Amino acid sequence: MEKISNRESYLKSISDRNLKIYLMGKLVEDPLSHPIIRPSIEAMAETYELAVNEPELGSVKSPYTGESINRFLHIAESNDDLYLQNKMQRKLGQLTGTCFQRCVGMDAFNALHSVTFEIDEKYSTKYHQNFINFLTEMHKYNLVIGGAMTDVKGDRSKLPHEQEDEDLYLRIVDRDENGVYVKGAKAHQTGCINSHWMVVMPTLRLTEKDKDYAIVGAIPVDAEGITYIYGRQSCDTRSMEPGEYDVGNKYFAGQEAMVIFDNVFIPNELIFMNGEFDFASMLVERFTTYHRRSYVCKAGVGDVLIGAAATIAEYNGVENASHISDKLVEMNKMNETIYATGIASSLQGSKTKSGNYINDDLLANVCKQHVTKDTFEIGRLAQDLAGGLVGSMPSGIDFNEGEMSSELKKYLKGIKETNAEDRVKILRLIENMTLGRNAVAYLTESLHGAGSPQAQRVQIKRKVNIEEKKDLAKKLSGVNKKDKN
Ligand code: SF4
Ligand code: FE
Repeated sequence: MEKISNRESYLKSISDRNLKIYLMGKLVEDPLSHPIIRPSIEAMAETYELAVNEPELGSVKSPYTGESINRFLHIAESNDDLYLQNKMQRKLGQLTGTCFQRCVGMDAFNALHSVTFEIDEKYSTKYHQNFINFLTEMHKYNLVIGGAMTDVKGDRSKLPHEQEDEDLYLRIVDRDENGVYVKGAKAHQTGCINSHWMVVMPTLRLTEKDKDYAIVGAIPVDAEGITYIYGRQSCDTRSMEPGEYDVGNKYFAGQEAMVIFDNVFIPNELIFMNGEFDFASMLVERFTTYHRRSYVCKAGVGDVLIGAAATIAEYNGVENASHISDKLVEMNKMNETIYATGIASSLQGSKTKSGNYINDDLLANVCKQHVTKDTFEIGRLAQDLAGGLVGSMPSGIDFNEGEMSSELKKYLKGIKETNAEDRVKILRLIENMTLGRNAVAYLTESLHGAGSPQAQRVQIKRKVNIEEKKDLAKKLSGVNKKDKN
């Protein structure tokens, strides 16, 4: 295999693979030529294109190979590295208008760097070296890694070993001297089919009885025993129709799939945790800390939506109305709040025992909490500015070739300086991002990705020192004064 250096070599690297993928009940023969899947592949390919077009943002020198690698594969060696990850994510959000799928692997790698080190420190295991060897291989070929964390979870009130069906969390079902065999299913795995490798990880705090669930290991995406079931996105079949007017985003989409593991083998040298259940919560916490501030990606996607809202206001001739510009200000304020809390988290990072850097946990959770709400409000305002047509426009076929084509072009026109085609295209983009297929990336993923809203609220509560704040108030108000009698 050759080192991947750009979009073309990435596309080549994922062609002719033997993945078992089901989409709408049918086996997908070639994901690259599937019209529903292809836009998600293009979004992933943009991460390689960025490294070509803006190397200082999209690439970095590997400390292991000494060669240039994609920034998504880099282990953060400073707060500045964390910050540059965020800058890259915003930029890619702007370029694709959707989820470019590559942050999960980056965040998993960064979490594993320190967690494997700390497991070894306690148990004299060799996971950190295994991990560094694997990382070096990934750097050598500049590959895409998916992080597979979220199990299907069954009864949420029960631990993995308490489930009626033991396979509802990924677990070890067999062992031999060469490695382990795992069984289970991971839900909504971002970009898994577009990756080369995936790293499976537990999804929650485990107890001694859950030992078989404490497994972390690397698996090639085309390993024997893996089946993918492609997730639907609203309006995704529009990509299968002729014409391009109704798709909204001409080039890009996200990707989520369910992954089923049926006795999948992980060799010893690719195992990074095996039974150390007491480290599962550390791994989950570190991964989510990284990943929750990675959601500044949505500020980049928000830039596209705000741009679309401002453009439709312009085409409607109302750009300068005071209530319109006030709404645009409000959208920008929320979008920058997402970005600001994300980069603040990165810039307040700290060094771990293994030597890499991790961003601030409290601010990462505040960032993600804003993402769960502000994107919806930005989406609501974009629809407000778009007007009702965003939900009722005739199809591109009617618009372009139908019997009523000329009437539609006449009646769908806005200001005289623009034509009806451009107005329709911008409206379709707003529809795509707030109701259509990329609404999954902009809204649903903002809500549930990296943990649903309540998970961040729990973490914010844990990280905030309320007693310290009470002391500040008590001191200034003179209550509990030591010298009073
Ligand atoms: Fe990256 Fe954002 Fe997609 Fe998560 S949702 S993988 S952070 S682009
Ligand atoms: Fe995600």
